Amino acid sequence: MPINLKTAVVESREQRLGTIIGWEGKASDLARESAYARGGCESKCGQKARRVCELQSPFTQGSVCSEQMVECQAGNVRGAVLIQHSPIGCGTGQVIYNSIYRNGLAMRGLPVENLHLISTNLRETDMVFGGVAKLEQSIRDAWDRHHPKAIFIATSCATAIIGDDIESVASQLEEELGIPVIPLHCEGFKSKHWSTGFDATQHGIIRQIVRKNPVRKQEDLVNVINLWGSDVFTPILAELGLRVNYVVDLATVEDLEQLSEAAATVSFCYTLSSYMAAALEQEFGVPDVKAPLPYGFAGTDAWLREIARVTHREGAAEAYIAREHQRVKPRLDELRALLKGKKGYISTGSAYAHGLIGILRELGVEVDGSLVFHHDPVYDSQDPRQDTLAQLIDNYGDVPQFTVGNRQQYQFFALLQRVKPDFIIIRHNGLAPLASRMGIPAIPLGDEHIAVGYQGILNLGESILDVLAHRKYHQDIAAHVALPYKKWWLEQDDPFLLAKENAVSSERE
Ligand code: SF4
Repeated sequence: MPINLKTAVVESREQRLGTIIGWEGKASDLARESAYARGGCESKCGQKARRVCELQSPFTQGSVCSEQMVECQAGNVRGAVLIQHSPIGCGTGQVIYNSIYRNGLAMRGLPVENLHLISTNLRETDMVFGGVAKLEQSIRDAWDRHHPKAIFIATSCATAIIGDDIESVASQLEEELGIPVIPLHCEGFKSKHWSTGFDATQHGIIRQIVRKNPVRKQEDLVNVINLWGSDVFTPILAELGLRVNYVVDLATVEDLEQLSEAAATVSFCYTLSSYMAAALEQEFGVPDVKAPLPYGFAGTDAWLREIARVTHREGAAEAYIAREHQRVKPRLDELRALLKGKKGYISTGSAYAHGLIGILRELGVEVDGSLVFHHDPVYDSQDPRQDTLAQLIDNYGDVPQFTVGNRQQYQFFALLQRVKPDFIIIRHNGLAPLASRMGIPAIPLGDEHIAVGYQGILNLGESILDVLAHRKYHQDIAAHVALPYKKWWLEQDDPFLLAKENAVSSERE
């Protein structure tokens, strides 16, 4: 089923890919149930969405939503403004996203500035009489204050409930102002996983910003779909004589326009890039590089070779691969000796987690468990060469306690109790304090590029040594704090107990 760019509303992940947010078992069982590279389906039926049996918890303790992902993607485009058409509460993420944006700009050596975000601040009366007038005023304010090159509009649960005609306002003002005014349909309650917000942003960019009839192809330009990470792709791809076009975060509107002119698209994580990479290939023939992600030796080798094949630079790639293997080996041997017998736990987005587990095993660290925040049984390309879960199992073996869950604190306690790791590696740092209360230090991967490529193996090893050095501090915390859960819950070893009881009582009804 191709990506549908005809409508303004993106298809959610669960519609397109069969995304789940609750599952536990062995990684190999999940790979088989997903029926991507494994399990026999391999898209012969032409359907992308798979059906993996999902554990459904009776409540959510806390999470983020699609709208917030739009905030941290469309809101991070330089030269653009994002209008949050929502109650002010949806904008609480602005504080942390502003800090991340400023840090990201500084890390890339770009001029540091604040985000350009405006909330329409919908109130009770707007819920009754409609918020379109406020939206129109906010678009005009954005233009008067910033003269942006594009204006994004993020919808919210509130605007979906009242049914504001956002499309009409946007198209009228797009014509009047002469810049793209792009509605991004990302109502939090419409999708159970926040990653639909990535897709909503990318859908709007491809529909309304990307150059539709590129006048020239830039044969040495590679789109790198990423977040705010440090600039590790430029030196790697320069070895192949390629230039980097980083999108979406920290990109300019011009960077987004030229997406259709590139020679290929790559990413640090298919969870983030799946939709845009597939859409660019479908609409403009920009190859979506079909390879493992660039983590560990196996993944990085295969990733470089596929980029080289697509861009016709095989010789340079082979020379670089050989040099890098030799360069990292001495320190890798030392790290393996230093980390022998250590046990790690990965808690990040799904494709990224598959890559990080592989690196830990390259380093000789044991990984008995992992929590991924959702699972896409298949990515938009449907190409088995992007099946990162199967690649993890094939290259590095199974993970016995593999869990899918949308980062619920109350479940995390039992998950860590099961495997008792020496440290955790985490993105979406809210779970780290809980680990700390259990005496387990966390490596917060704020810079998502730290683990990319051959140097990434060493970087992660050094980070583990650093975090283990202050383990005593976390053990002291654990000795002096209590967890906020009842004794009964802390005694349970099944983090999905409530979901399973919920399923049994639903069957009885
Ligand atoms: S869009 Fe909905 S789920 Fe997201 S922050 Fe606003 S109210 Fe909450």
